[in-house]
Amino acid sequence: MTRTEVQEEREVDNTRIIKKAIRTIPNFPKKGIMFRDITTLLQNPKAFKKTCDALYKRYKGKKIDVVVAIESRGFIFGSVLAYMLGVGFVPVRKPGKLPHKTIREEYELEYGKDAVEMHADAISKGQRVLIIDDLIATGGTVAAAIKLVEKLGGKVLECCFVVELPELKGRQKIKGYPIFNLVEFEGE
Ligand code: AMP
Repeated sequence: MTRTEVQEEREVDNTRIIKKAIRTIPNFPKKGIMFRDITTLLQNPKAFKKTCDALYKRYKGKKIDVVVAIESRGFIFGSVLAYMLGVGFVPVRKPGKLPHKTIREEYELEYGKDAVEMHADAISKGQRVLIIDDLIATGGTVAAAIKLVEKLGGKVLECCFVVELPELKGRQKIKGYPIFNLVEFEGE
């Protein structure tokens, strides 16, 4: 086996360990939703470490200036990654949580609207930004986060997720922006 093959096999193993550590709760928070619960991954030190290491491996040396993470589960992975990369961390929060002057972006939900906010001075013009959340479903939340970053003049290098649900076509909502995931769930 070549070195690349060994490395590839290791990555497949890591993906399997990470995916197995995520629990699925059917019909939460409402009927028809398969909730991908990452708390079981966080409780599992081996799987949590493999997740953080895989994210770091992807982004080390990529000249990222700031990690922008989405409330609330994005904060968990985003803050570890920012620490590992030695860069700043910026939270994107639900309305009314941030104490200083904010900018806001609304987005459509299945029924009604929601919004996210960021401090108006959180990003400087030209900064290279990595956006992170635990999961991409329809892509509405991350699309709003991209708009916030760009309003402040930041450049979104990639959007990164531990989990992607390809059936919900989140990628189509943020066409043109590179997306990275560690695991995917398709209806299982
Ligand atoms: P969306 O805007 O539809 O891409 O939804 C993404 C946000 O909602 C993320 O912050 C996720 O944490 C959460 N989310 C949406 N669907 C799920 C799901 N099936 N399981 C766990 N979290 C979800």
